[in-house]
Amino acid sequence: AVAPQSPYLSGLNPEQRAAVEATEGPVLVLAGAGTGKTRVLTTRIAHLIATGKARPFDILAVTFTNKAAREMRERVASLIGPVAEGMQWLGTFHSIGTKILRRHAELVGLRSDFTILGTDDQLRLMKQVLEAEGIDEKRWPARQLASLIDGWKNRGLGPAQIPGGEAGAFANGKGGKLYTAYQDRLKVLNAADFGDLLLECLRLWREHPDILQQYQDRFRYMLVDEYQDTNVAQYLWLRLLAQARKNLCCVGDDDQSIYGWRGAEVDNILRFEHDFPGATVVRLERNYRSTGHILAAASFLIAKNQGRLGKTLRTEDEPGEKVTITGAWDSEDEARLIGEEIEALHSKRHPLSEIAILVRISAQMREIEDRLANVGVPYRVIGGLRFYERAEIRDALAYLRVVNQPADDLAFERIVNVPKRGLGDATIQVLHNHARAARVPLTEAARFIVETDELKPKPRGALRDLLISFGRWAKLSETMTQSEVAQIVLEESGYTDMWQKDKSADAAGRLENLKELVRSMEEFPDLQSFLEHVSLVMEANETDTTERVSLMTLHAAKGLEFNTVFLPGWEEGLFPNQRALDESGRAGLEEERRLAHVGLTRARRMAKIYFASNRRIHGLWNSTVPSRFVDDLPEASVEIVEAPANFSQGGFGGGSRFDRMAPFSGSSYQTPGWQRAQAHRANTASGSGYSARGSGDRRSPMLIEGELVAKSTGAA
Ligand code: ATP
Ligand code: MG
Repeated sequence: AVAPQSPYLSGLNPEQRAAVEATEGPVLVLAGAGTGKTRVLTTRIAHLIATGKARPFDILAVTFTNKAAREMRERVASLIGPVAEGMQWLGTFHSIGTKILRRHAELVGLRSDFTILGTDDQLRLMKQVLEAEGIDEKRWPARQLASLIDGWKNRGLGPAQIPGGEAGAFANGKGGKLYTAYQDRLKVLNAADFGDLLLECLRLWREHPDILQQYQDRFRYMLVDEYQDTNVAQYLWLRLLAQARKNLCCVGDDDQSIYGWRGAEVDNILRFEHDFPGATVVRLERNYRSTGHILAAASFLIAKNQGRLGKTLRTEDEPGEKVTITGAWDSEDEARLIGEEIEALHSKRHPLSEIAILVRISAQMREIEDRLANVGVPYRVIGGLRFYERAEIRDALAYLRVVNQPADDLAFERIVNVPKRGLGDATIQVLHNHARAARVPLTEAARFIVETDELKPKPRGALRDLLISFGRWAKLSETMTQSEVAQIVLEESGYTDMWQKDKSADAAGRLENLKELVRSMEEFPDLQSFLEHVSLVMEANETDTTERVSLMTLHAAKGLEFNTVFLPGWEEGLFPNQRALDESGRAGLEEERRLAHVGLTRARRMAKIYFASNRRIHGLWNSTVPSRFVDDLPEASVEIVEAPANFSQGGFGGGSRFDRMAPFSGSSYQTPGWQRAQAHRANTASGSGYSARGSGDRRSPMLIEGELVAKSTGAA
């Protein structure tokens, strides 16, 4: 019974409207991509405020990123005006957790001005803890402990709660003890890590039920977006808060659960109905985002997964353009093709801000960034750093800059103690003092200092070794190619080794980036011109244009939408990613496929898939096979784009590096794998559950039915 004049409700279909108006009691909106889940949440907030059921600060609304929170605030404001500004409790789990914790910090052993540790600080602290316990960090790396502890925190487990067997997995049974020691250290430093932001809230509420009750009263209505990617700690946190009033509305899509590797549990969706009996479950089936072919492709693909709740998606939009699949010779050619297509789109007035390039791993970005910078297409990297801004790349570049120009003080200072060589702040201070007094660069000061006894023998020896190495590397660069030199520098300096020993989740990615860097250097005549190129790429994006192409990983693209989406790198091993397959088998493959589904469903009007027949993996050229996800697409909705005519002829005439490539048979770009993919697709396209009706007729809806199968995880 809502005033019919509420204009904000007019933008909803009946199911969406039902989800908005069911304000009391638990509500679960379980629906596919682009069906308006986020729109439902936004309108629901507007509705709660406009009807006077809640004041802006009575509403808790959780989004996956800060960017999404900002957008939600803007959308609510556009519906009901500036009153939306009063929404103090709209944010990510982390930001809201921080806010609560600051108010009651003393009760969990912190002060209200506690600092939040980043991953680097977290690691440094872990190392100290290991050292204090006399544990050999070579054998039991700090990063391994860090990911173990993060895992426990994701599951809502404090030191006292970890299952016995698990604590034993690290340092001969010391895992639990180290966890306790780490938490104690955090308290001494008046600090919390990311996991604590929720875990300490849980502890606070368990130990102080009166405070829990305050928040249960405070948050009259709670809303959660991207619910499929919540972890156990987040789930417990929500459940505690919602227990009293039960006005919790969660929206999600099991087919877009892509953070399993970070502890997210899609089963939270199943638990919801169990923990909140009588919950209203709303299903939305009309996709408002994508044209028919894109939606067909995405639905067909995801239907190959077995672990699904199953759902229907349809669009009333026209079929639009088919999803294109383009084969490139190699990854550089792929970047070139994408660059050309973007230029062509731009010349036809397609706004750059409506174009996204979504990659599987961040190492793929380098070639694309270089290409875009070369042709002058402005871009921004969302949810991460641009390639040359990443820590490991900056470190590597710093080494090379010193090789190239020993007077580069900033570069020298960056890497003088990376990896650790015992050249700490005290040593640097001595160097600085001398450099300043003598008005010479740091390396020159160092050369002088190592001949004196100003430094203790140990740092003096280490510094001398480093200087000798730099001398040697500079000599090598007179005769060797710059990428060979880079390879040697990274190895001999111990830099590569540092990351190889590193057991953390991101170490492998950093090593891949370093290889990508070394590989990219081959394309330049010498070190100097490579370094100039880097500064150019970096500079190209300094100028502030609002119109930019967005470049990001598939993971970062959740919830977003663009007119045109480029999806490069659809090759076996890269996507699905071999590591995911090795570590998690079938579940890993299904998560990869969901990622492909997320990628496709970001597109409104055009989705463009690419694969390269040759890609360097771990520094070696490999002929690659198109992704099995290409096989998973319905023939009727894809178009195979032939590579440009000049492909096998003069196109690469001058490019000698292709001569050095791994054996590649045939003069066309078609690999056996690609033929396999085509043949396979032809065989399987018929007997599917997918039907496209009246695709030529705009009025008759195009119906796309995913397989409505029971979830293999045991859903009723
Ligand atoms: P995802 O799963 O990708 O997060 P979603 O379910 O949250 O998608 P929204 O982003 O809310 O979907 O909506 C997708 C697009 O459809 C948006 O552009 C939104 O404005 C539009 N949309 C949603 N509902 C309607 C509607 N009833 N009428 C017109 N447009 C709609
Ligand atoms: Mg959404």
